[in-house]
Amino acid sequence: MTPQQKSRPGAGTAYATTRSNDSPIDAVLHRLEKVKSTGPGKWQALCPAHDDKRPSLSIREADDGKVLLKCWSGCSAQAITEALGLSLADLFPGDRRSHESGTGSMRRPFDYRDCLTGIAHEATVARLIVEAVNRGEAMDVESLDRLALAEERISDALAAAGGVQ
Ligand SMILES: [Zn+2]
Repeated sequence: MTPQQKSRPGAGTAYATTRSNDSPIDAVLHRLEKVKSTGPGKWQALCPAHDDKRPSLSIREADDGKVLLKCWSGCSAQAITEALGLSLADLFPGDRRSHESGTGSMRRPFDYRDCLTGIAHEATVARLIVEAVNRGEAMDVESLDRLALAEERISDALAAAGGVQ
């Protein structure tokens, strides 16, 4: 890690989306501090989106090359990527290839049915967890993690669809 990579924009700073030839996981890991591998395709690091004293950010690389971020203090994937000077779209592989398509379309075709099916599934997961809590079951870390993953997946779908207008 070089010194200039440690600088990051503060909250509210307009960030430039940096596109490089790095894979999404490299782009993310290069910008994080105290990165430690915790297993194949898994890392932990200091969360850039809050005042993190001990590494509370989990980073995972999905099979398709997508990067999944999870802060145990509850920072959203959006807040984390913005703190890194990246956008949610930077967590996806392949997006930058579309620059060479020459068709005028800057994005790969977006499948709304797939996307909505995924969101419906995540909503069901959230409902089941809420129902369990309603029955008096304790909200365990696993459920919280699963809920965060649901939020993350829906955010990812939004990013894939072109982000917030
Ligand atoms: Zn955080």
